[in-house]
Amino acid sequence: MAKPDWVKELTQWYSQNKRSMPWRDNPLPYYIWVSEVMLQQTQVETVIPYFKRFITRFPDLNTLANSDFQDVLKMWEGLGYYARARNFHKAASLVIQEGNGVIPDNFEDLRKLPGLGDYTAAAVASIAFGQKIPVVDGNVLRVFARFWGIKEDIKTNSVKRHIFDRLKNVISTSRPSDFNQAIMELGALVCRPKNPLCPQCPLQKQCVAFKKNITDELPIIKKKAKIPTYIYGACVIWRGNRFLISRRDNDQMLGGLWEFPGGRLEGNLNLKKQSFELVEKITNLEFKMLKDFYKIRHTYSHFKKELTAYKCQLLEQKVIAGDVVDPEDNFRWITLSEVTNFPFDKATLKVIDKIVKR
Ligand code: SF4
Repeated sequence: MAKPDWVKELTQWYSQNKRSMPWRDNPLPYYIWVSEVMLQQTQVETVIPYFKRFITRFPDLNTLANSDFQDVLKMWEGLGYYARARNFHKAASLVIQEGNGVIPDNFEDLRKLPGLGDYTAAAVASIAFGQKIPVVDGNVLRVFARFWGIKEDIKTNSVKRHIFDRLKNVISTSRPSDFNQAIMELGALVCRPKNPLCPQCPLQKQCVAFKKNITDELPIIKKKAKIPTYIYGACVIWRGNRFLISRRDNDQMLGGLWEFPGGRLEGNLNLKKQSFELVEKITNLEFKMLKDFYKIRHTYSHFKKELTAYKCQLLEQKVIAGDVVDPEDNFRWITLSEVTNFPFDKATLKVIDKIVKR
């Protein structure tokens, strides 16, 4: 079946306008995979330095699979959505152990690996291996909601499916990888969320939203419910020039990352007392709270965290358990200069930053 004219115009536009990216300039399947995992929920500009550091530390899949997960987390520190790193590490080990180290070259097999949803599996299959499968991300949904004049919420599965099916019929046979990347690039550079640059767009002639002058009405995205704010407390317990950090359980959110011992508090009353009692229970240490505290806010995808971290001092003479080292190795006493050896979540890094500045 003949492809519509805009398919060729789009890929030609891409050839002339695509931005240089390290994984684009050297499109090894492993690099494409790393980049697509990092690009989930994250902008290209943010990803590039992380990508460079990551492939310097883990230059190939084998190195990644055989590395300690703590090292992987350290390279991911600050990028957020840490389940991506955990699943990627697991998937790399599976490919090495059960797939002879060969990355699957098709959507179906990629989709079976941990952490590869429809989007990432399609992106790797098409960009790294030239499989003819459309990639549908937020940029693609926005571009085609406007181009085809779709007046329904683009977050619904029915609209996603509709756009996927229509793209499947028109995806370039000779350049499926460029076709997918072209749409995403067009969404990032031209068909932007606000003020799309229609005069520069290769799709303008057939674009419904442009012709009807409704580009600012599309796409339709239903507003998300407001996310809740939770109150957290933590203790920065000093012992000489060292302070205590604890590692989160692997099955928790931000699992494997380090933080100051603490947790979510009940309500807004007696935060200091609540924090003290909570941390006393977690650590089994005796310590006293000092005057200083550090207050930070951090927004995760589903909630906002308001954290107060209290400066404390270990009462050395009252150590109960003989020593203060946790038998399960989930606690460490570290100096400020050792912070760089451990992966921390963003909220804890904000507290550390305040400690350093004071
Ligand atoms: S013409 Fe404008 S609204 Fe239509 S696809 Fe291009 S940039 Fe988007």
